[in-house]
Amino acid sequence: MSEIAVMVKDGDKKAIAAFFKEDPKGVAEYLKSGKMPTSIAGKRFVAMYQSLASILDVIFEGETLQIQSFIASTGISAAQADALALSSLFMSPAIKQTILNEWVNKPYNGYPLSQRIWGLNKATENKLMQMVAAGFADGRNPKQLAGLVRGITGQQSASNIRRLLLTENSRVQHGVQKLAVREFRHISYVVLKFGVRHKEPCLCDPYQRKGRMKYEDAPDLPLHPSSSSYYQPIPTPIDEWKKEMGYV
Ligand SMILES: [Zn+2]
Repeated sequence: MSEIAVMVKDGDKKAIAAFFKEDPKGVAEYLKSGKMPTSIAGKRFVAMYQSLASILDVIFEGETLQIQSFIASTGISAAQADALALSSLFMSPAIKQTILNEWVNKPYNGYPLSQRIWGLNKATENKLMQMVAAGFADGRNPKQLAGLVRGITGQQSASNIRRLLLTENSRVQHGVQKLAVREFRHISYVVLKFGVRHKEPCLCDPYQRKGRMKYEDAPDLPLHPSSSSYYQPIPTPIDEWKKEMGYV
């Protein structure tokens, strides 16, 4: 039987709370030295951090390609395009680490990433505590109980983690796009598009109905947790862009 199933069977609330407790030290140590935390909260942070770091790679490459193809379409000279890329903070190799650090530390809805992940643990912990409080473990054979606990700690947290990943993905994606647009001004308008699992009514609806919005006026994404809505960019007209960037 797993460690946590034994705790539930023994009705050991203290041990359960300790098992799920937040681990800012373990997280800080991992970010500093790469040492794997021993706590469940710390391990989840590492798993989430690593998947989002690779998602960030893909988002960044995509954004870079879009900028390059936009610049190619403007007809500025190769030397001008090189100079633009060279002067860019966004194109510098250090930017990904900067974005990653910012994303980890910047509070979202008041909480930094480690606490947002910890919120997921809290839901699992509460469920197990309820089982303990209800004396749920009584009269169950160890195999049955271990299965139940595995179900709660596994399936429930897996779906919560998927939701959080979706939310964080949208947040990082929009953050990267904003940085790119600030420097390259290649997008002037956007249209909000619903993601695949969109269900009405939701907070995205009024913005979707607006149609075309100025990029600066478009609100930060996601508009709500686990939203997969995204902005379809409308490229800046070339003549306008040239004027704005000082090429004419
Ligand atoms: Zn929505």
